[in-house]
Amino acid sequence: MATLTLLARIVTFRSAHAKLLEFSWPRCNTFSYGRTTMACMCSDQKFMYDLLVIGGGSGGLAAAKEAVNLGAKVAVLDFVTPSPRGTTWGLGGTCVNVGCIPKKLMHQAALLGEAIHESAAYGWQVPDPKTIKNDWQALTTAVQNHIKSVNWVTRVELRTKKIEYFNALGYFKDQHTICGKMKNGEEKLFTAKNILIAVGGRPRYPDIPGALEYGISSDDIFSLEKAPGKTLVIGAGYIGLECAGFLNSLGYDATVMVRSIVLRGFDQQMANTIAQEMERRGVHFIYQAKPSKIEKQTDGRLLVNWVDKERQTHQDIFDTVLFAIGRKPLTEELKPEIIGLQLIPETAKIDVIDEQTNVPNVYAVGDVLHKKPELTPVAIHAGRLLARRLFGNSTEQMDYINVATTVFSPLEYGCVGLSEEAAIAIHGEEKIEIYHAYYKPTEFFIPQKDVSNCYIKVVAFRNGDQRVLGMHFIGPNAGEVIQGFAAAIKCNLTFPKLKDTVGIHPTVAEEFTRISVTKRSGLDPKPQSCCS
Ligand code: FAD
Ligand code: NDP
Repeated sequence: MATLTLLARIVTFRSAHAKLLEFSWPRCNTFSYGRTTMACMCSDQKFMYDLLVIGGGSGGLAAAKEAVNLGAKVAVLDFVTPSPRGTTWGLGGTCVNVGCIPKKLMHQAALLGEAIHESAAYGWQVPDPKTIKNDWQALTTAVQNHIKSVNWVTRVELRTKKIEYFNALGYFKDQHTICGKMKNGEEKLFTAKNILIAVGGRPRYPDIPGALEYGISSDDIFSLEKAPGKTLVIGAGYIGLECAGFLNSLGYDATVMVRSIVLRGFDQQMANTIAQEMERRGVHFIYQAKPSKIEKQTDGRLLVNWVDKERQTHQDIFDTVLFAIGRKPLTEELKPEIIGLQLIPETAKIDVIDEQTNVPNVYAVGDVLHKKPELTPVAIHAGRLLARRLFGNSTEQMDYINVATTVFSPLEYGCVGLSEEAAIAIHGEEKIEIYHAYYKPTEFFIPQKDVSNCYIKVVAFRNGDQRVLGMHFIGPNAGEVIQGFAAAIKCNLTFPKLKDTVGIHPTVAEEFTRISVTKRSGLDPKPQSCCS
């Protein structure tokens, strides 16, 4: 009530002083009232906005753009708290600034290095391969310049679409009011009919001496001023393997410390094949180990202690220690207790039903969601569908099942659907058929590249329609290969239909149409001949 009275006063104040305020009335329609700055009312008259989005990353921006296209009045608050090392970045969220995009660019740099070496076998007159080196500063500058251009395009797009953007850290005042704290400490109040939480997460650090002082995370690696040198990557999930993979390919000594297993949640045969392939390329693995202490030596290098499963302590010296031990959602900073927003106690994630939280006008999408994939396209799709349901009379719900993904390890691993172990656990071994094959990519022949880990797997029902439940691919361009098959699985692909699909020759994707050996048969899944 107090807020409404205040707003009414402000509107009257604004009409009376329109001329005076013209100059200080920016694009985002805010103006000051004492210490607090308020935005003007939207057409609704009850709230300033139809939708207020907290978090300008993949999910938040997708929802905001869709909502505004459907006629809603929308504002987005986005704020990046510096990493413990002090790294910060612009608008667009994790994916654009410190996630998918810089990661893919560094992966591409690594692939190009590999291609330069191979090109000699194809007749290119390259200098002595031993003299070819990557320039870390040149690489990070190029990557950061691209990111800055994306930040800029994103801001322009918001302005063009008339989405009001505030560089402010938001937290709840009540279930319709968000307080946004600007860099200079000034606070603004925003009211909205609907609020969308899309604040994503940030890397976790272990509670060991030296972790915060001397460790870095994926938030820092893509803009690191100095070349990382000998690097210890702690964690063997997506980020750990991807970072260790590109660092090794760029010429740095890289070690992955694995607490338990590699790529938990993925098909373990495929995950171990990826680790094996990375080891073959020179990445070191320390298994069943946990770091216990990091100290800085007088020469600036880092002395790392770790404990193995026999509780023996080991140590080694590294230039860089990168933590990739999972991410923490930024939900507690929203002061959820003020509106009674429930979080999962162990993870601080939000459990939603159709993206709606336990507070009816408060929604959530993206990495903050409990038991949903932490992937950009998932956040984007869920955000868009939510906006259509809120403002476009749509009833379409987000389907989180059979989301395809790729680990951009040096030899990539793409998959969709169930792993072999999950299919067997759910349906029983007797009901599941596992088809598998090794294959030889044509482009590997001339440079005589190792093909021993080029491997694919199809998980399907053994009887009935033999529906395909999962597809797994290790090889070049795995994401490109799996994306199309993900659409086929969405359309209930069956194994006979897969076999009835005519391949595109010579590609690596066609190997799925040639697969025929079952694990049950015990036959050798070695590569078939090239063209027959
Ligand atoms: P985010 O994109 O994280 O956006 C949240 C935004 O909200 C951030 O800008 C944050 O600073 C801001 N914010 C937080 N709190 C507040 C607040 N209180 N007020 C205002 N603003 C706030 N996914 C893929 O699909 N493919 C990949 O190849 C891939 N690679 C990745 C590589 C790395 C190294 C990492 C870290 C992630 C990667 N991901 C990848 C995951 C992907 O980046 C995330 O799933 C995606 O960004 C999640 O989107 P989101 O909208 O939930 O949150
Ligand atoms: P993950 O949850 O994938 O992996 C975390 C790793 O750290 C696991 O190996 C885990 O081991 C280990 N770990 C956890 N705690 C500790 C600890 N205290 N000490 C030592 N090791 C520990 O997290 P990531 O940070 O790699 O990635 C976060 C998310 O980002 C992913 O889930 C993914 O959705 C997304 N992402 C997507 C990418 C893509 O699409 N290509 C790329 C990168 C990220 P254990 O198994 O024992 O728990």
